[in-house]
Amino acid sequence: MAHKPANVTGEANLGRGNISIERVSKIYEPFGARVSAVDNCSLSIDAGQFVAIVGPSGCGKTTLLNAIAGFDTITSGAILLDGEVISAQRKQIRPGPDRVVVFQNGALFPWKTMMANIVYGPIKQKKMARREAEKIAIALLKKVGLEGIQDKYPGEVSSGMQRRVEILRALINQPTVMLLDEPFRALDAVAKSVMHRFLLDLFDDSPRTTIFITHDLEEAIFLADKVIVMTTRPARVKVVHEIELPRPRTRAIIGSEHFMRTKRSLLDVVHEEALKAFQSGEREMA
Ligand code: ADP
Ligand code: MG
Repeated sequence: MAHKPANVTGEANLGRGNISIERVSKIYEPFGARVSAVDNCSLSIDAGQFVAIVGPSGCGKTTLLNAIAGFDTITSGAILLDGEVISAQRKQIRPGPDRVVVFQNGALFPWKTMMANIVYGPIKQKKMARREAEKIAIALLKKVGLEGIQDKYPGEVSSGMQRRVEILRALINQPTVMLLDEPFRALDAVAKSVMHRFLLDLFDDSPRTTIFITHDLEEAIFLADKVIVMTTRPARVKVVHEIELPRPRTRAIIGSEHFMRTKRSLLDVVHEEALKAFQSGEREMA
Protein backbone atom coordinates (compact mmCIF):
# COMPACT_ATOMS: atom_id res chain seq x y z
CA MET A 1 0.00 0.00 0.00
CA ALA A 2 1.11 3.53 -0.70
CA HIS A 3 0.94 4.84 2.85
CA LYS A 4 2.40 2.80 5.62
CA PRO A 5 2.40 4.59 8.94
CA ALA A 6 4.29 2.45 11.42
CA ASN A 7 2.59 0.23 13.92
CA VAL A 8 -1.02 1.42 13.69
CA THR A 9 -2.48 -2.05 13.47
CA GLY A 10 -0.31 -3.77 15.99
CA GLU A 11 3.05 -5.11 14.84
CA ALA A 12 3.54 -5.46 18.59
CA ASN A 13 1.41 -8.59 18.33
CA LEU A 14 3.97 -10.43 16.24
CA GLY A 15 4.45 -14.00 17.41
CA ARG A 16 1.33 -13.83 19.59
CA GLY A 17 -2.10 -15.32 18.94
CA ASN A 18 -1.59 -19.07 19.26
CA ILE A 19 -5.00 -20.61 19.83
CA SER A 20 -5.57 -24.08 21.11
CA ILE A 21 -9.10 -25.45 21.18
CA GLU A 22 -9.05 -28.60 23.27
CA ARG A 23 -11.95 -31.04 23.25
CA VAL A 24 -14.50 -28.25 23.45
CA SER A 25 -18.18 -29.10 23.79
CA LYS A 26 -21.14 -26.79 24.12
CA ILE A 27 -24.63 -27.87 25.03
CA TYR A 28 -27.37 -25.26 25.07
CA GLU A 29 -30.27 -25.97 27.39
CA PRO A 30 -33.09 -23.68 26.36
CA PHE A 31 -36.22 -24.34 28.39
CA GLY A 32 -34.95 -27.75 29.49
CA ALA A 33 -34.23 -28.98 25.94
CA ARG A 34 -30.66 -29.98 25.16
CA VAL A 35 -29.00 -28.80 21.96
CA SER A 36 -25.51 -30.13 21.42
CA ALA A 37 -23.92 -27.41 19.26
CA VAL A 38 -20.23 -28.29 19.50
CA ASP A 39 -18.95 -31.73 20.43
CA ASN A 40 -15.41 -32.61 21.41
CA CYS A 41 -13.92 -30.14 18.97
CA SER A 42 -10.14 -29.78 18.85
CA LEU A 43 -8.20 -27.39 16.71
CA SER A 44 -4.95 -25.50 16.84
CA ILE A 45 -4.20 -22.21 15.13
CA ASP A 46 -0.71 -20.78 14.93
CA ALA A 47 0.14 -17.19 15.75
CA GLY A 48 -0.42 -14.99 12.73
CA GLN A 49 -2.29 -17.63 10.77
CA PHE A 50 -5.40 -16.90 8.70
CA VAL A 51 -7.86 -19.72 9.22
CA ALA A 52 -11.20 -20.08 7.45
CA ILE A 53 -13.95 -22.21 8.99
CA VAL A 54 -16.54 -23.63 6.62
CA GLY A 55 -19.56 -25.68 7.61
CA PRO A 56 -23.28 -26.07 7.07
CA SER A 57 -25.71 -23.56 8.54
CA GLY A 58 -26.54 -24.27 12.15
CA CYS A 59 -23.58 -26.60 12.65
CA GLY A 60 -22.11 -24.61 15.54
CA LYS A 61 -19.60 -22.19 13.95
CA THR A 62 -20.90 -19.07 15.67
CA THR A 63 -21.07 -20.97 18.95
CA LEU A 64 -17.38 -21.80 18.66
CA LEU A 65 -16.50 -18.24 17.67
CA ASN A 66 -18.48 -16.82 20.60
CA ALA A 67 -16.59 -19.14 22.93
CA ILE A 68 -13.23 -17.93 21.57
CA ALA A 69 -14.41 -14.32 21.85
CA GLY A 70 -15.46 -14.91 25.45
CA PHE A 71 -19.11 -14.04 24.80
CA ASP A 72 -20.40 -17.40 25.95
CA THR A 73 -19.33 -20.26 28.19
CA ILE A 74 -18.44 -23.78 27.09
CA THR A 75 -19.76 -26.98 28.63
CA SER A 76 -16.44 -28.84 28.67
CA GLY A 77 -12.93 -28.67 27.29
CA ALA A 78 -10.72 -25.60 27.19
CA ILE A 79 -9.63 -22.78 24.91
CA LEU A 80 -6.13 -21.37 25.31
CA LEU A 81 -4.66 -18.19 23.90
CA ASP A 82 -0.86 -18.16 24.02
CA GLY A 83 -0.93 -20.84 26.70
CA GLU A 84 -3.41 -19.02 28.92
CA VAL A 85 -6.83 -20.56 29.49
CA ILE A 86 -9.43 -18.08 28.24
CA SER A 87 -12.39 -20.43 28.43
CA ALA A 88 -13.11 -23.67 30.23
CA GLN A 89 -15.86 -25.39 32.13
CA ARG A 90 -16.74 -23.33 35.21
CA LYS A 91 -14.12 -20.75 34.27
CA GLN A 92 -15.22 -17.15 34.25
CA ILE A 93 -15.08 -16.11 30.62
CA ARG A 94 -12.99 -13.15 29.67
CA PRO A 95 -13.89 -11.15 26.59
CA GLY A 96 -11.22 -8.60 25.86
CA PRO A 97 -9.85 -6.21 23.29
CA ASP A 98 -7.17 -8.81 22.45
CA ARG A 99 -9.93 -10.71 20.57
CA VAL A 100 -12.30 -8.64 18.50
CA VAL A 101 -15.28 -9.80 16.50
CA VAL A 102 -16.68 -8.49 13.23
CA PHE A 103 -20.25 -9.67 12.95
CA GLN A 104 -22.29 -10.74 9.97
CA ASN A 105 -24.85 -8.00 10.27
CA GLY A 106 -22.70 -5.04 11.00
CA ALA A 107 -23.01 -2.91 14.06
CA LEU A 108 -21.97 0.66 13.33
CA PHE A 109 -23.83 3.31 15.30
CA PRO A 110 -25.94 5.01 12.62
CA TRP A 111 -26.01 8.27 14.55
CA LYS A 112 -22.24 8.54 14.84
CA THR A 113 -19.78 9.57 12.13
CA MET A 114 -17.30 7.03 10.80
CA MET A 115 -14.58 8.62 12.92
CA ALA A 116 -16.73 8.50 16.06
CA ASN A 117 -17.54 4.85 15.32
CA ILE A 118 -13.89 3.88 14.90
CA VAL A 119 -12.69 5.55 18.10
CA TYR A 120 -15.69 4.58 20.24
CA GLY A 121 -14.29 1.33 21.70
CA PRO A 122 -10.88 2.39 22.98
CA ILE A 123 -12.26 5.67 24.38
CA LYS A 124 -15.14 3.95 26.11
CA GLN A 125 -12.76 1.38 27.60
CA LYS A 126 -10.43 4.22 28.62
CA LYS A 127 -7.62 2.58 26.68
CA MET A 128 -6.85 5.71 24.71
CA ALA A 129 -7.41 9.44 24.96
CA ARG A 130 -9.60 10.86 22.20
CA ARG A 131 -6.67 12.66 20.52
CA GLU A 132 -4.59 9.49 20.39
CA ALA A 133 -7.47 7.37 19.15
CA GLU A 134 -8.31 9.88 16.43
CA LYS A 135 -4.68 10.02 15.33
CA ILE A 136 -4.60 6.25 14.95
CA ALA A 137 -8.00 6.24 13.22
CA ILE A 138 -6.76 8.76 10.67
CA ALA A 139 -3.63 6.70 10.06
CA LEU A 140 -5.80 3.62 9.56
CA LEU A 141 -8.15 5.42 7.17
CA LYS A 142 -5.17 6.76 5.23
CA LYS A 143 -3.57 3.35 5.06
CA VAL A 144 -6.61 1.96 3.27
CA GLY A 145 -7.32 5.06 1.19
CA LEU A 146 -10.54 6.00 3.02
CA GLU A 147 -9.44 9.28 4.57
CA GLY A 148 -12.28 11.16 2.86
CA ILE A 149 -15.09 9.44 4.73
CA GLN A 150 -14.32 10.22 8.36
CA ASP A 151 -17.15 12.76 8.75
CA LYS A 152 -19.78 10.73 6.95
CA TYR A 153 -22.53 8.79 8.68
CA PRO A 154 -22.98 5.06 7.97
CA GLY A 155 -26.20 5.73 6.05
CA GLU A 156 -24.32 7.94 3.62
CA VAL A 157 -21.94 5.27 2.31
CA SER A 158 -22.26 1.85 0.64
CA SER A 159 -22.56 -1.32 2.69
CA GLY A 160 -19.11 -2.38 1.48
CA MET A 161 -17.68 0.86 2.84
CA GLN A 162 -19.49 0.28 6.15
CA ARG A 163 -17.95 -3.17 6.39
CA ARG A 164 -14.47 -1.75 5.83
CA VAL A 165 -14.99 0.80 8.58
CA GLU A 166 -16.19 -1.96 10.90
CA ILE A 167 -12.97 -3.82 10.28
CA LEU A 168 -10.94 -0.68 11.01
CA ARG A 169 -12.99 -0.19 14.17
CA ALA A 170 -11.93 -3.68 15.22
CA LEU A 171 -8.29 -3.08 14.26
CA ILE A 172 -7.92 0.10 16.30
CA ASN A 173 -7.83 -2.16 19.35
CA GLN A 174 -4.70 -3.78 17.93
CA PRO A 175 -6.18 -7.19 18.67
CA THR A 176 -4.07 -10.33 18.85
CA VAL A 177 -6.93 -12.23 17.26
CA MET A 178 -9.51 -11.11 14.69
CA LEU A 179 -12.73 -13.09 14.59
CA LEU A 180 -14.97 -12.59 11.57
CA ASP A 181 -18.36 -14.29 11.47
CA GLU A 182 -19.53 -14.46 7.84
CA PRO A 183 -18.71 -10.77 7.43
CA PHE A 184 -19.32 -10.51 3.69
CA ARG A 185 -22.33 -12.74 3.44
CA ALA A 186 -24.74 -9.96 2.50
CA LEU A 187 -22.48 -8.44 -0.17
CA ASP A 188 -22.64 -9.02 -3.92
CA ALA A 189 -19.73 -10.61 -5.78
CA VAL A 190 -18.07 -7.34 -6.79
CA ALA A 191 -18.29 -5.77 -3.32
CA LYS A 192 -17.03 -9.06 -1.90
CA SER A 193 -13.94 -9.04 -4.07
CA VAL A 194 -13.19 -5.46 -3.00
CA MET A 195 -13.48 -6.62 0.61
CA HIS A 196 -11.14 -9.53 -0.05
CA ARG A 197 -8.48 -7.18 -1.42
CA PHE A 198 -8.96 -4.88 1.57
CA LEU A 199 -8.68 -7.68 4.12
CA LEU A 200 -5.71 -9.32 2.38
CA ASP A 201 -3.81 -6.02 2.15
CA LEU A 202 -4.36 -5.40 5.86
CA PHE A 203 -3.31 -8.96 6.65
CA ASP A 204 -0.16 -8.78 4.53
CA ASP A 205 0.69 -5.45 6.06
CA SER A 206 0.33 -6.69 9.60
CA PRO A 207 -0.42 -10.40 9.86
CA ARG A 208 -2.37 -11.49 12.90
CA THR A 209 -4.30 -14.58 13.90
CA THR A 210 -7.55 -14.39 11.96
CA ILE A 211 -10.52 -16.73 12.18
CA PHE A 212 -12.90 -16.20 9.31
CA ILE A 213 -16.22 -18.02 9.16
CA THR A 214 -17.81 -18.39 5.78
CA HIS A 215 -20.19 -20.43 3.65
CA ASP A 216 -18.20 -19.64 0.56
CA LEU A 217 -15.52 -22.23 -0.08
CA GLU A 218 -13.82 -20.21 -2.81
CA GLU A 219 -13.55 -17.25 -0.45
CA ALA A 220 -12.11 -19.54 2.23
CA ILE A 221 -9.41 -20.94 -0.07
CA PHE A 222 -8.58 -17.54 -1.53
CA LEU A 223 -8.05 -15.89 1.87
CA ALA A 224 -6.78 -18.54 4.24
CA ASP A 225 -3.61 -20.40 5.14
CA LYS A 226 -5.74 -23.21 6.47
CA VAL A 227 -9.34 -24.19 5.69
CA ILE A 228 -11.25 -26.11 8.34
CA VAL A 229 -14.38 -27.94 7.28
CA MET A 230 -16.75 -28.63 10.17
CA THR A 231 -19.19 -31.50 10.42
CA THR A 232 -22.91 -30.97 10.56
CA ARG A 233 -24.19 -30.23 14.10
CA PRO A 234 -22.73 -30.86 16.59
CA ALA A 235 -19.63 -29.19 15.19
CA ARG A 236 -16.43 -31.16 15.09
CA VAL A 237 -13.48 -30.75 12.78
CA LYS A 238 -14.00 -32.84 9.67
CA VAL A 239 -11.03 -31.79 7.52
CA VAL A 240 -8.07 -29.47 8.00
CA HIS A 241 -6.60 -28.44 4.69
CA GLU A 242 -3.40 -26.37 4.42
CA ILE A 243 -3.55 -23.93 1.53
CA GLU A 244 -0.19 -23.69 -0.17
CA LEU A 245 -0.85 -20.61 -2.25
CA PRO A 246 1.77 -17.86 -1.98
CA ARG A 247 1.08 -14.41 -0.54
CA PRO A 248 0.34 -11.75 -1.54
CA ARG A 249 -2.73 -13.38 -3.05
CA THR A 250 -4.08 -12.00 -6.28
CA ARG A 251 -7.26 -12.99 -8.07
CA ALA A 252 -5.14 -14.65 -10.76
CA ILE A 253 -4.54 -17.62 -8.44
CA ILE A 254 -8.25 -18.48 -8.55
CA GLY A 255 -7.67 -19.92 -12.01
CA SER A 256 -4.54 -21.83 -10.97
CA GLU A 257 -4.34 -25.61 -11.02
CA HIS A 258 -3.64 -25.77 -7.28
CA PHE A 259 -6.68 -23.59 -6.49
CA MET A 260 -8.98 -25.62 -8.70
CA ARG A 261 -7.75 -28.93 -7.32
CA THR A 262 -8.15 -27.75 -3.72
CA LYS A 263 -11.63 -26.46 -4.45
CA ARG A 264 -12.73 -29.69 -6.09
CA SER A 265 -11.56 -31.88 -3.23
CA LEU A 266 -12.99 -29.64 -0.49
CA LEU A 267 -16.26 -29.15 -2.33
CA ASP A 268 -16.92 -32.87 -2.04
CA VAL A 269 -16.35 -32.75 1.73
CA VAL A 270 -18.51 -29.64 2.22
CA HIS A 271 -21.24 -31.10 0.06
CA GLU A 272 -21.29 -34.34 2.03
CA GLU A 273 -21.84 -32.44 5.30
CA ALA A 274 -24.40 -30.05 3.79
CA LEU A 275 -26.37 -33.04 2.57
CA LYS A 276 -26.33 -34.59 6.03
CA ALA A 277 -27.52 -31.31 7.54
CA PHE A 278 -30.27 -31.10 4.95
CA GLN A 279 -31.39 -34.65 5.60
CA SER A 280 -31.46 -34.12 9.34
CA GLY A 281 -33.69 -31.09 8.71
CA GLU A 282 -31.34 -28.37 9.87
CA ARG A 283 -32.89 -25.09 8.83
CA GLU A 284 -31.02 -22.50 6.81
CA MET A 285 -30.34 -19.69 9.25
CA ALA A 286 -30.08 -16.15 7.99
P1 ADP B 1 -23.81 -21.70 12.78
O1 ADP B 1 -23.12 -20.45 13.16
O2 ADP B 1 -22.88 -22.77 12.30
O3 ADP B 1 -24.89 -21.47 11.77
P2 ADP B 1 -24.72 -21.71 15.56
O4 ADP B 1 -23.47 -21.85 16.35
O5 ADP B 1 -25.33 -20.37 15.47
O6 ADP B 1 -24.49 -22.32 14.09
O7 ADP B 1 -25.81 -22.70 16.16
C1 ADP B 1 -25.58 -24.07 16.38
C2 ADP B 1 -26.80 -24.72 16.97
O8 ADP B 1 -27.02 -24.24 18.29
C3 ADP B 1 -28.08 -24.42 16.19
O9 ADP B 1 -28.87 -25.58 16.20
C4 ADP B 1 -28.73 -23.31 16.98
O10 ADP B 1 -30.13 -23.34 16.84
C5 ADP B 1 -28.31 -23.64 18.39
N1 ADP B 1 -28.18 -22.44 19.22
C6 ADP B 1 -27.40 -21.37 18.97
N2 ADP B 1 -27.47 -20.46 19.97
C7 ADP B 1 -28.36 -20.96 20.86
C8 ADP B 1 -28.88 -20.51 22.13
N3 ADP B 1 -28.49 -19.35 22.66
N4 ADP B 1 -29.76 -21.31 22.76
C9 ADP B 1 -30.15 -22.49 22.23
N5 ADP B 1 -29.70 -22.98 21.06
C10 ADP B 1 -28.82 -22.24 20.38
MG1 MG C 1 -23.41 -18.50 12.44
